[in-house]
Amino acid sequence: MLNIVLFGPPGCGKGTQSAILKDKYDLVHISTGDVFRGLDPESELAKLAKSYADKGNLVPDDITIKILQSEVKKYPNARGVIYDGFPRTSAQAEALDVFLKSKGGAVSCMLELEVEENELRTRLKGRAMDSGRPDDADPAVIQNRIDVYNTQTSPVAGFYKTQGKYKSINGIGSIKEVSERLFQNLEEVIA
Ligand code: AMP
Repeated sequence: MLNIVLFGPPGCGKGTQSAILKDKYDLVHISTGDVFRGLDPESELAKLAKSYADKGNLVPDDITIKILQSEVKKYPNARGVIYDGFPRTSAQAEALDVFLKSKGGAVSCMLELEVEENELRTRLKGRAMDSGRPDDADPAVIQNRIDVYNTQTSPVAGFYKTQGKYKSINGIGSIKEVSERLFQNLEEVIA
């Protein structure tokens, strides 16, 4: 089974590109952010997740890892999975390795979409009008999400670099240009 980690800062295009890769390669797309937003809003778990997300902070690892695992288990016959927004900490990356190993699998590759910070801020501000997400609307929250990415999430790339599974992709350009770059990089993984 293919296990593709699509990585990069908030606003880099992970969601958009995941949807394209999902259709092209017949994969399941799992976005932990979407899973949190899709929980019953009255549930304690949803309220807890929202209390972190609205400030731009990460939901604690133990909760996020459990949510991710139960989501993956919903698709036992999938050809593969695109992980969008997970793992976001070293503990999550290690837990994903252990979890996939227990199923006889492994991460196939990590693709990082590289976009510089000013462009991220512009994109997230634009997205706020359509997404209705409180964490897209407030410049202070946007900045916190970028800072959290730089301090807690960015080091996760090193975990996959050490395993020889990391590829950096230029995330600037049209949606089509970026997806073409992803296809090129995925060719050898998927062949
Ligand atoms: P996203 O839709 O990926 O931007 O995620 C929105 C919010 O959900 C994040 O700011 C976090 O609060 C939470 N979240 C999503 N994925 C994770 C994760 N892997 N670890 C911790 N928190 C997460």
